[in-house]
Amino acid sequence: SLKGKTAVITGSNSGIGLGVAHELARAGADVVINSFTDRDEDHALAEAIGKEHGVTARYIQADMSKPDQCRALIEQAGRCDILVNNAGIQHVAPIDEFPVEKWDAIIAINLSSAFHTTAVALPMMRAAGWGRIVNIASAHGLTASPYKSAYIAAKHGVVGLSKTTALETARENITCNAICPGYVLTPLVEAQIPDTAKKYGMTEEEAKQKVILERQPSKEFATVEQIGGTAVFLCSDAAAQITGTTISVDGGWTAL
Ligand code: NAD
Repeated sequence: SLKGKTAVITGSNSGIGLGVAHELARAGADVVINSFTDRDEDHALAEAIGKEHGVTARYIQADMSKPDQCRALIEQAGRCDILVNNAGIQHVAPIDEFPVEKWDAIIAINLSSAFHTTAVALPMMRAAGWGRIVNIASAHGLTASPYKSAYIAAKHGVVGLSKTTALETARENITCNAICPGYVLTPLVEAQIPDTAKKYGMTEEEAKQKVILERQPSKEFATVEQIGGTAVFLCSDAAAQITGTTISVDGGWTAL
């Protein structure tokens, strides 16, 4: 059980982050969820997690594109036994047309934020004598596709950062790993479906099956519960010697 541990999950008012927060709370952890907004519904999501799983759940606003806010998130949490770096955005365009501000935002949110939160969380984990860092990378942290240069560079970077973090903590009771999901049907992916359908002259259902799941041999989306369950496993005693590596949850994508 993760009772008594506090988990901070970045970018968790939606999709995979929210799913991971639910699974860690189900396993007994108190959770801090986060995004850059500060709406009633953000705080309501935390309240719902607390009620459903009988844990303490808080929402803390912080913009993961800003180094000082990444650091402030962990400081405000006050304690961070489990850190899940999940915040991420996508933009699709060929390199020669890729907007510079999109490149900068993707590198900041998808990669640099994990460096900043880790830098503040590690001393807390060392003081507690235990820590788990789970970085949400992607199948695109291990393989590439055209038109996603910033995302793929950032996700490969997250895999590299995870390995270095693991080496710097190897003699301590702290592990760091990256989960590499294939396609999960979250708002981030749903947003790509209408354009994809239009581009290929297909219905949205055909676009999902024939284009989006083309790389995923199982022909099924992974679920946020499965990603959350993998994070819970990485926090378990069974995973104490798993560090500096990646776990793919991708229906066979990276086996192709
Ligand atoms: P999503 O859009 O549902 O969730 C992204 C989360 O990040 C949201 O909670 C959003 O509020 C938050 N976020 C965005 N910008 C932020 C910022 N500046 N500061 C703080 N929070 C911010 O998408 P998702 O699919 O759940 O993606 C979550 C992570 O999983 C991302 O890192 C993504 O790259 C990764 N991933 C997703 C898939 C997939 O198929 N959905 C596959 C592999 C990896």
